[in-house]
Amino acid sequence: MQRRNFLKTSASAAFLAGTLPACAVPSTQEEKAYTHQGRINNYQKFSVIDPGLKITGIETWSRPDVAVVRVTADNGMEGWGQISTYDADISATVLHRKIASLVLGSDPADIDDLADRCVESNLKFPWSYVLRALGGVETAIWDLYGKIRQQPVCELLGGEVKAVPIYGSSMSRSITAEDEIERFTRLRDEKGIKSFKFRVGKEAGRNGDAWPGRTEEMVKGVGSALADSCTMLVDANSCYTPDRAIEVGKMLQDYGISQFEEPCPYWEIEWTAEVTAALNLRVSGGEQDNDLAQWRRIVSIPAVDIIQPDPLYLGGVLRTVRAAQMAAEKGIPCVPHSANLCMVTVFALHIMRAIPNAGPYLEYTIEEGGINQTARQLYSPGLEIVDGRLDMPSSPGWGVEFKKEWLDKADYQVSNADS
Ligand SMILES: [Mg+2]
Repeated sequence: MQRRNFLKTSASAAFLAGTLPACAVPSTQEEKAYTHQGRINNYQKFSVIDPGLKITGIETWSRPDVAVVRVTADNGMEGWGQISTYDADISATVLHRKIASLVLGSDPADIDDLADRCVESNLKFPWSYVLRALGGVETAIWDLYGKIRQQPVCELLGGEVKAVPIYGSSMSRSITAEDEIERFTRLRDEKGIKSFKFRVGKEAGRNGDAWPGRTEEMVKGVGSALADSCTMLVDANSCYTPDRAIEVGKMLQDYGISQFEEPCPYWEIEWTAEVTAALNLRVSGGEQDNDLAQWRRIVSIPAVDIIQPDPLYLGGVLRTVRAAQMAAEKGIPCVPHSANLCMVTVFALHIMRAIPNAGPYLEYTIEEGGINQTARQLYSPGLEIVDGRLDMPSSPGWGVEFKKEWLDKADYQVSNADS
């Protein structure tokens, strides 16, 4: 156990070294405090623009796969954000029914109060859809800040615009080891990507597999072919009980895989903690966790070695930063979850360059169809990988524009302050 702790501590220290941007590192004081909504003890609320404006309009353009949000202030300025992908039309309805009245007429300057109010006023409707809706509005307010201050969001958060190294993330459980090796090798050689993640087990699969023996074939095949030249990660998407996860984890270690994501059903944080304690590789997780009190428990145990909060499942930028700050106090790195090429990857990029405990690489999907095809039609400029790094847009706000052609084909809804 002592050796394991030493290895993990060393790994975390190395992980964090050289990745600390301008943002202040939170204090490590351990005094008991009853802080609301995931604030660390010495939390500083965001104060990006001067008070005095009012939000007068919230518009959504929604389709089932993704939805775009525009907020307008009483000075006529606008900010654009995005609701999380998948069933985004449901989230847009929730936005107009459960969030809009809490935001309209309020001052966008106090974004902490605004986000907390949306959560607390919806106490009977906790988390998922309410936070997806809030995430759309909140990211639009950050864009509004950027337009007002004429700065990219990353800088408003205390970071600097700079390309971020990525890992190529496979989403496929139907692919064979041979084909996965072929595409990882090609991307390594053509795009300079030095880290890759592949899938093991089955999503919420109760120890199952895509076909019998696939996980072993993948780990042995892909690990043997690439672990010497690349950093390799796997994702089990809530598949395993701890006993099976530890068995798989030891095989991962034997084949040079260095990160094991979401080994157990994510809601069973004690199961995940058991796996984390038993293995030497890094265990990561948290993409679905959207309750900041649960995040406090996750980092306090700690259940994982790396946290992966999703900015849009969690309700936006500031709630993601709060999760990152809680992790930073425990010396745990944070890599915001960004599993598709819609705006979540842009948001994660800006956050990565601003938090004090950013991990070494951001997730970047290598799949081109489905939602990623939508992403290419949704906004511009599109994301590009150069020498294994993802360039960050540097114009004010999020640095991208939503395309009229996509917006014209979406369902439009508006809530106004006077309606
Ligand atoms: Mg994942």
